[in-house]
Amino acid sequence: MHIFQEIQPLKAFLEQIRRGSETIGFVPTMGALHPGHISLIQASQKQNQKTICSIYVNPTQFNNAQDLAKYPRTLEQDIELLRQQGCDAVFCPTNAEMYAADSILKFDFGYLNTEMEGRYRPGHFSGVALVVSKLFNIVRPDVAYFGQKDYQQFKIIERLVSELKFEIALKCMPIVREPDGLAMSSRNARLSQENRKKATQLYQALLFAKEGLNKSKSMADIRSQVEAQFNSIGGIQLEYLELADSTNLLPLENVGDKSILLIAAYVGEVRLIDNLLLT
Ligand code: AMP
Repeated sequence: MHIFQEIQPLKAFLEQIRRGSETIGFVPTMGALHPGHISLIQASQKQNQKTICSIYVNPTQFNNAQDLAKYPRTLEQDIELLRQQGCDAVFCPTNAEMYAADSILKFDFGYLNTEMEGRYRPGHFSGVALVVSKLFNIVRPDVAYFGQKDYQQFKIIERLVSELKFEIALKCMPIVREPDGLAMSSRNARLSQENRKKATQLYQALLFAKEGLNKSKSMADIRSQVEAQFNSIGGIQLEYLELADSTNLLPLENVGDKSILLIAAYVGEVRLIDNLLLT
């Protein structure tokens, strides 16, 4: 497996692949790789001749300095895992390689910036769009793979690709879960043993909400019941639980043709997200 820290040698390597008319699948990550990430690598390997993974903890998408400082970093282990998977190349740049010291470019996604993740993490999606644009320009993949786990992020990237005319196909892959339902996430490594058990409450809340909606309960009722459940357990703080149209993420009152439930909560100091497609 080829390991690149710099853009130019990576571009030269990719140019060779393109000249051989091989397709390039791309999986951008922030590392601390788990089976969720690996499922994206495997999807890319099935559909492309070459697969490139990036590992870069992008500072501009963190609105909370503590979250950035405590983000798990396991680069050597990640590289070994990618090697075992037969990934063709990994790009793990430094901040200096990715950003000018006086970087000022910002993205605004309108209402997508003010709902859910956008509301609770100001500046987050601008940072995501900035780094994904840079990575797309550097790698120029045929197909890029993302997880449904970060559904709002996927919707942002769809907008980015359509508005900036990137010639890249996007794939949104299903959420890989632990046996008890917890969505796999690099941040799960930061949970204490006790909080790891509590973290299953996010998925439980999504299942509870789905069942409630089937029984024609209102989202307001469901939300307050989930909040009461979290309070009775203690140490879990609900940020949002929303029903939205899965095509555009506009809020819904009732389940429609294409609906999704999305949740964010703090379990101790760790902020987790999850979602469930309903239709
Ligand atoms: P991250 O390293 O957290 O930025 O995630 C990199 C990619 O992996 C993103 O497209 C995520 O949506 C995806 N991903 C993260 N967790 C999971 C999961 N549990 N199942 C599937 N994909 C995931």
